[in-house]
Amino acid sequence: MTETTMNLSESDRPMKPAMWRGWRRKCPSCGTGPLFKGYLKVRANCPVCDEDYTPQRADDGPAYLTILIVGHIMAPLILIAFIKYRPDPVILSSVFIVGCVALSLFLLPRLKGMLVAIQWAKRMHGFAEDS
Ligand SMILES: [Zn+2]
Repeated sequence: MTETTMNLSESDRPMKPAMWRGWRRKCPSCGTGPLFKGYLKVRANCPVCDEDYTPQRADDGPAYLTILIVGHIMAPLILIAFIKYRPDPVILSSVFIVGCVALSLFLLPRLKGMLVAIQWAKRMHGFAEDS
C-alpha cells in the first residue's frame, strides 16, 4: 500500500451514520436534505448542504442487492407456506407475487441510498474532493 492510498483510507468519512442516512434516503453528508428527486432519481446536489451527488455510480448495485435479499427471504417462505398449509396455487402465487413486489419496492430506494452513501463515505469516484 502506498502512502497516498493510506492517506485516502484514513480520510474516509464515518461509514455507519452515512449508511443509515442513505437507508433513510437522506443526504449522507448532512442527514436532512432529501437524496432522491422522485422514487429513484438521485439529485444533482443536496438542497440543504449543497453536497454534490453527481459522482455517484450506484448503477445495477441496488437492483442486484434487492434481488439477492428478496430471493433469500421469499424462496424459503414460499417453501414453508407450501409444505405447511398446502394452499391453492392461485392463492399462493398471488400472495407471493404481491409480497415480492412490495418488498422490492420497499428495499430498492433504501439500498440505492445506502450504496450512494457508501461511495460518499469511501470517497469513491468523484466524491474524493472536499466541498
Ligand atoms: Zn446535505
